[in-house]
Amino acid sequence: MSERNSSAGKKPFNANISYIILLFFSTLVIGLTFFLYKETQKLFQERLQERLTSIAQTASIKFDATELSLISGRESIGTSMYEKIVKDLNEIRDANTDIRFIYILRKTENPNILHFVADADSINPDAEIDLNNDGVVTEDDELAAPGDEYDISEYPHLKQAFIQSTVDPKLTVDQWGTFLSASAPIYNEEKVAQEMIGIDVDVSNFQRIINLAAVPYALFVIFLLLTLVSLTLALVKIWNSRVEFLNELDHQKDELLSIVSHQLATPITSLKWYVEMLLDGDMGKLTKEQDEQIRSMQSISADLSDLVGMILDVSRIQLGKIRIDKQKMDLNEFFKEILQVIEPKAKEKQQKFDVELPANLPVAMLDKRYTRMTIENLLSNAVKYTPEKGSVQMKVELHGNTLSVTVKDTGVGIPKEDQAKIFGKLYRASNVRNSVDGNGFGLYVAKGAVEAQGGTITFKSEIGKGTTFFVELPIA
Ligand code: ADP
Repeated sequence: MSERNSSAGKKPFNANISYIILLFFSTLVIGLTFFLYKETQKLFQERLQERLTSIAQTASIKFDATELSLISGRESIGTSMYEKIVKDLNEIRDANTDIRFIYILRKTENPNILHFVADADSINPDAEIDLNNDGVVTEDDELAAPGDEYDISEYPHLKQAFIQSTVDPKLTVDQWGTFLSASAPIYNEEKVAQEMIGIDVDVSNFQRIINLAAVPYALFVIFLLLTLVSLTLALVKIWNSRVEFLNELDHQKDELLSIVSHQLATPITSLKWYVEMLLDGDMGKLTKEQDEQIRSMQSISADLSDLVGMILDVSRIQLGKIRIDKQKMDLNEFFKEILQVIEPKAKEKQQKFDVELPANLPVAMLDKRYTRMTIENLLSNAVKYTPEKGSVQMKVELHGNTLSVTVKDTGVGIPKEDQAKIFGKLYRASNVRNSVDGNGFGLYVAKGAVEAQGGTITFKSEIGKGTTFFVELPIA
């Protein structure tokens, strides 16, 4: 069996949906733009790394590994060979103003320790130079001398530098700026490298340019977001005015329906009187044939009167003008009257018709016309939508001050996809729309009538197996 359903009428327009979609797209736009920016940044950095590697590689060719192998300790300082090497390092540094440090290091037995060979500042390693520009010359400012040890355990890329050109994947930031280090092996004639050349390049300007690349992306995001917001607002506005327009049309239609059915009600009532007068013989005795014809006229005018009444109820409910007139009514009498109408219909279809009615039901305060219309509609639907020889049951219970009526049938059922709309005005399920007569007013009025009296109406149904409607009404 399907879930027990409560009704669902026409839902009002909910602008929040647009704002959720807007939020989703905004997040998407921001996410995508951030991703694009990061990719661009990565691309710029890769190009920079390639360029630095090639600078280090070109520089490495300038040096002769045999000459370098002769520089081994402090005693090399001041030799013409050493001065030539330092001069060459200086030339390379001068040719590229962004190179801050350029140095040559040598492998040792220990892979984590390298020996210093020379750098561009090594002309006079004993000179007192304020290397870190802090105004004081301390040990920190001391220039390195050939043979000084360098622990490279925190710079794993430098171990690679004896095999191939590498770049430190991390940027170094210090008081002089932002640096990127690249290095390349200096091969001897056997294509083996004992030394490598390293360059530390100041990339502060480059970083600034990369950061600036964020500006067009940010502007793009702002532009897209503004466009999205204004489009959403415009759509919501158009949508709202459309909904307003349709609501107004609907209202006008209901007013018209109400006026027309009011206007129709009076002549139909007169028609019914005249028919009754004719049947009572007030205009003279009728022949058998006349009597038969006029009786079918009476039944047609009764149907017409019911239909007009129903349309009037629909428009009242729609306009929020339903008037409930609660009066004392004897429930035993009430159900007896209804069964008198329904039982013959069930008999005609050879249906099993069971009624569970507690003895001595109390007197209730209910709107008799609407309550009757509701229960009668549920029962006549059960009979109508149940095939011949099927079964229909009505169970009436009293729980405190609540009257509960259950109408169960073994009929065609209501398809799942129609269930949410079944209490809607004029709505008919797809499985009966073209095969069984009906107008789709009954359940709409029943729901309006039950709810206006403070009750509830729900159902559960399974296609091909049957339907059960549950009505609960406060009777005090
Ligand atoms: P009508 O019966 O005139 O079509 P109602 O408003 O009484 O209109 O019912 C609306 C629709 O609900 C019906 O067209 C039918 O599809 C479905 N329905 C109501 N009662 C039953 C039932 N007992 N079994 C199957 N379908 C039902």
